[in-house]
Amino acid sequence: MRQAEVVIVGGGMVGLSLACGLAEAGFAVAVLEAGPAPLPEEGIDCRVSALSRASEQLLQQLGVWSRLGRKTAYRQMRVWEQDGPAALQLDCATIMEPDLGHIVENHPLRLALWQRAETLGVSLQAEVRLQRLQRQGDCLMLWPLEGEPWQTPLAVAADGAESWLRQQARVPMFRRDYGHWALVANVRTQLPHGACARQCFTPDGPLAFLPLHESDLCSIVWSLPPERAKALCEGDATTFLHQLYTAFDGQLGLCQLASERRCIPLQARLARDFVQERLVLVGDAAHTIHPLAGQGVNLGLLDVAALLQTLTDLKARGQDWGLRASLRAFERQRKWQACHYLAAMAGIKQLFAIPGEPARQLRGLGMGWLSRLPGWQAPLLRQALGLSARQ
Ligand SMILES: Cc1cc2nc3c(=O)[nH]c(=O)nc-3n(C[C@H](O)[C@H](O)[C@H](O)COP(=O)(O)OP(=O)(O)OC[C@H]3O[C@@H](n4cnc5c(N)ncnc54)[C@H](O)[C@@H]3O)c2cc1C
Repeated sequence: MRQAEVVIVGGGMVGLSLACGLAEAGFAVAVLEAGPAPLPEEGIDCRVSALSRASEQLLQQLGVWSRLGRKTAYRQMRVWEQDGPAALQLDCATIMEPDLGHIVENHPLRLALWQRAETLGVSLQAEVRLQRLQRQGDCLMLWPLEGEPWQTPLAVAADGAESWLRQQARVPMFRRDYGHWALVANVRTQLPHGACARQCFTPDGPLAFLPLHESDLCSIVWSLPPERAKALCEGDATTFLHQLYTAFDGQLGLCQLASERRCIPLQARLARDFVQERLVLVGDAAHTIHPLAGQGVNLGLLDVAALLQTLTDLKARGQDWGLRASLRAFERQRKWQACHYLAAMAGIKQLFAIPGEPARQLRGLGMGWLSRLPGWQAPLLRQALGLSARQ
């Protein structure tokens, strides 16, 4: 039998961040990952994340931020409605910050975290096929298909949206289809992005152009009804690029594909419990939200920061960190924020989905009013950067 003070199921960005933080705090940690260990890759990943200042600070604290070669700071954000009067421009100067966040490719970030975890002595187990969860006294037992079982006083589900561990623990889930798939790809643009993250709300759904490390390279996230997303993903490149140009109001000129195209179905999910006796859920295993505000992994990394604080305090006080009662405050805090984000994403999505000219004019008036109203931009930007007091 193998033992660890904390066993993390899932070696994605969230699980590995937690592993690094716990190892630094003196915990004996194991990560059980279903996939292979990440390897260096030459190409540019078409899965990217807009990381907030709070995420940047956590990754700095974990000694990972400086290891990331390519990260693109964006200083402005522009949001508008296709063929409508609604438009909003946000600038980092408003809050006297050097930028509004960074765009980071998911694969290199995961690789940097994996390598850091290795250096910190985390027991990293790749290609593990877990088959059974068993409660045994003050411990949980995790049985892989092959090899010895793992025994731990606390298991963390960080195994993504369809979490195996969450299902084994029979945690009920709220889920709702967004009626959108996200089509992601990297494109070369005719005009430079100017370190600005842009998002256009079309009648089908939002289309974002996120700036990458070269001035004419952007990552796109285009939320569309599933049929249309599938057709654009599998259809010929010329038709795709033509439709992309039209949907984006030609803001960055003509585009060329710089990667494969991929489609990801989008669902709102929220676990009823983030904590059970000897079990915690973090990241996408606990909640998933629409990517229209680019906050999913930021929310997961805030789970990590809060859990690190909770577990370190419990260990310092010599208390059992696997007890549900000890983890309830963590659960309340993280659930509150996840619910808040889920509601905000649903609200924004629905607001832009209301058809007709009167609704369009109202959105224009609302956004125009917001643009001119003094004093509201700073709190909004601080919230988006994860710098507001209540996190
Ligand atoms: C199109 C799109 C764009 C997005 N853009 C942004 C953005 O700009 N900013 C942002 O903050 N967020 C964004 N997100 C959200 C973000 O990608 C997710 O929130 C994030 O990837 C979740 O990380 P995770 O580690 O919790 O889960 P995952 O990334 O899903 O990782 C889970 C890990 O667990 C492993 N695993 C799965 N099952 C098992 C098992 N049975 N046993 C062991 N291991 C297992 C998987 O192999 C994987 O390594 C976006 C999401 C989408 C879909």
